[in-house]
Amino acid sequence: MQAQLALSLPLSNEEIFEAIWRELAPRRDLPQIRVVVRPYVNTMGKISLRDGLLEVRLSDLISGAPATVREALARILLGKLHRRPASPVFVQRYRSWLNRREVRRTFHLVRQTRGRKFVSGPAGEHYHLDPIFDRLNAAHFDGLMARPALGWSRRPSRTLLGHFDPSHNAIILSRILDHADVPQYVVEYVLFHEMLHLKHPTEHRGSRRCIHSREFRLEEKKFPSFAEAKAWLKKL
Ligand SMILES: [Zn+2]
Repeated sequence: MQAQLALSLPLSNEEIFEAIWRELAPRRDLPQIRVVVRPYVNTMGKISLRDGLLEVRLSDLISGAPATVREALARILLGKLHRRPASPVFVQRYRSWLNRREVRRTFHLVRQTRGRKFVSGPAGEHYHLDPIFDRLNAAHFDGLMARPALGWSRRPSRTLLGHFDPSHNAIILSRILDHADVPQYVVEYVLFHEMLHLKHPTEHRGSRRCIHSREFRLEEKKFPSFAEAKAWLKKL
């Protein structure tokens, strides 16, 4: 049986691989461990052991995942190397993470945009998101929210007006909003909505995901032009 690591967070990727190596192969010399991050989309990690160097290449999509998820992947990769398959608990944990809606959505987006710059930067043609964020932060969050990366999507999506991308710590607004015809309160409302997602991290109830809690909805209504913004977006 594989015990869980006594996780004292945050653990670096090197520390995770070292701890699991020691657990799986206590009698073998610990190799030098190097973990590099690569822009993989179709695999989350590759591992090789050569001349006393264990090289792990992790997808950037998982390199910032919770330590427990990186631990699960480390057990899967090292389990293959040592021919000691990871226990189903860890395989399941890894798969559940891959199946989470925001992770799937991020993968989808990254697949669409890979090869190009993913986060455009906050300056659009008509709106600059940094000062808008700062104003909303001061007005509604006591200025306490750390500013994530802000940017515009490559495509002017009508269906996904904004989203928070946890693996890049970025709020991305649809480029369709970066237009002179779009009132500023609409851009502010969409950004405010995504900021509320930062404030109210997604609750997990088993495999069900509560995206907008009651508290979320109540707080969202405090936005001064809430009704106007909703009405305007409905016409979009
Ligand atoms: Zn939402």
